[in-house]
Amino acid sequence: MSATQHAPGAGSREANMDSLAREAREALRLRGDRLRAGARAPTDGPEAVDPELAEADLRELRDIEAALARIDRGAFGRCERCGGAIGRQRLRAVPEARHCITCATLDR
Ligand SMILES: [Zn+2]
Repeated sequence: MSATQHAPGAGSREANMDSLAREAREALRLRGDRLRAGARAPTDGPEAVDPELAEADLRELRDIEAALARIDRGAFGRCERCGGAIGRQRLRAVPEARHCITCATLDR
């Protein structure tokens, strides 16, 4: 019988996630700023403006902004598809990840 009960040590895990979220926020902000600066001031030469790259940058920027919003909501590190936890290792490597590794693999 599984009554609703809080997992032991949830508080300390939250504290850990908080420092990871703060770390991720800094990294995301930095990358967002750089992407925005690049979008506004393209490097000289017509070949430097690659529409495909610009599109990828835009998508990345959107992911970054969504991740920042999740951090503000306190939903950082939760998979948007299954609601499960996104591994800390994955969050460190991809702070803007929306899905856990399982869902990300399924989504491919
Ligand atoms: Zn998932």
